[in-house]
Amino acid sequence: MISFDNTENAFKSKTNAQLSQSYWLFKLISNPSLVKLGANFGPLTLNLGFKGVIKATIFKQFVGGETIHDCAKAIESLAKYNIGTILDYSVEGKESEQDFDHCLQETLQTIEKAKKDKHIPFCVYKVTGLARFGLLQKVSSKLPLSEIEKPEWDRVKKRVYSICKAAFEGEQRIFIDAEESWIQPAIDDLAYENMALWNKEKAIVYNTFQLYRNDRLLNLEETIRAGKTNSFYIGAKLVRGAYMEKERKRAAQMNYPDPIQVSKEKSDQDYDKALKLCVDNISVMGLCAGTHNETSSLYLVNLMREKNIAPGDNRVCFSQLYGMSDHISYNLSLNGYNVAKYVPYGPVKEVLPYLIRRAQENTSVKGQTGRELSLILKEKQRRASK
Ligand SMILES: Cc1cc2nc3c(=O)[nH]c(=O)nc-3n(C[C@H](O)[C@H](O)[C@H](O)COP(=O)(O)OP(=O)(O)OC[C@H]3O[C@@H](n4cnc5c(N)ncnc54)[C@H](O)[C@@H]3O)c2cc1C
Repeated sequence: MISFDNTENAFKSKTNAQLSQSYWLFKLISNPSLVKLGANFGPLTLNLGFKGVIKATIFKQFVGGETIHDCAKAIESLAKYNIGTILDYSVEGKESEQDFDHCLQETLQTIEKAKKDKHIPFCVYKVTGLARFGLLQKVSSKLPLSEIEKPEWDRVKKRVYSICKAAFEGEQRIFIDAEESWIQPAIDDLAYENMALWNKEKAIVYNTFQLYRNDRLLNLEETIRAGKTNSFYIGAKLVRGAYMEKERKRAAQMNYPDPIQVSKEKSDQDYDKALKLCVDNISVMGLCAGTHNETSSLYLVNLMREKNIAPGDNRVCFSQLYGMSDHISYNLSLNGYNVAKYVPYGPVKEVLPYLIRRAQENTSVKGQTGRELSLILKEKQRRASK
């Protein structure tokens, strides 16, 4: 029986000094006033010469490095415990064609890197890295595109096509991250077009399903049905979802029904139902459980056992973010399950929004910090008593 309480396994890769550093970092970011200050003045601190401090602290905890090359150490340290890396170019909020082409090239390079490194089992990208947000919103709303926007949209489709084709030709699986509900229809259409093209023999292209949305379980069912009817495999990364407050706020402001589940319990229920649906249909699917939730992770372990799916079966993978929930990642991998961590990378200034999000989600009382801190503390005490 797997236990996520085993802190010896969870922090095997960390020296005492590294453990203490993580402890102080999580302690610092558990302070809401400090995190608020960081969120408001983060970019300014870089101008004031704090780049070195950020790089040595929060960046080091949650990010692999500034370039793919810099991530070698993180890849190696995870690989030592049989945990894969998913290189995530985490530059956000760009809006120029030049930036989109740069992101395309960067993603193609991660695929190239993955081809040469068996410890990189998946690649990933966000469509907002390749397309203007406003354009995705317009396509999602089915509004007619202008004469300038039509070729712009064609370029977006071509970028997505190039990435999925490179993944297929290099036999590398690729995730398409899910984003805000008002641009998600365009992302879904791109994902399905490419799944139908490249997933004829196995799941190469994976779309992401956010189960904090009240319509996604049904959407997953329909997608699996469409895959069966049209003879292609479905790649599904299941997450709860990262934009809850933004979603609720917009729905209230614009007076349309809130797309988010009525409660956390409902998100949890649909997440676990989605896991079961995927496991029941595993013969036509690839599944990645992108979660830090212990109950859901254990539930998937039990489902696999019930269905006689071996822990190392290539069709199922567990995934967590770098620097978080090592107690889940390491304990699963030590028990033979496929685990891979998102390892974000990019220039410090560009990765700042990602870091602020990590700090914010680790701040709330109900959030992760309590869990991360108490686990680190437990391990420090265990080591001290030896
Ligand atoms: C490998 C990986 C990949 C990811 N990829 C994406 C992605 O592509 N797109 C994306 O949006 N997110 C993504 N995420 C983030 C993810 O959606 C969650 O925000 C995060 O993992 C926390 O959820 P959890 O499953 O770990 O569990 P928990 O910590 O148990 O759940 C927290 C989540 O529950 C939901 N929730 C909380 N309160 C309520 C409430 N009152 N009502 C309804 N729901 C509630 C929210 O989604 C919240 O984030 C990814 C996460 C991982 C680990």
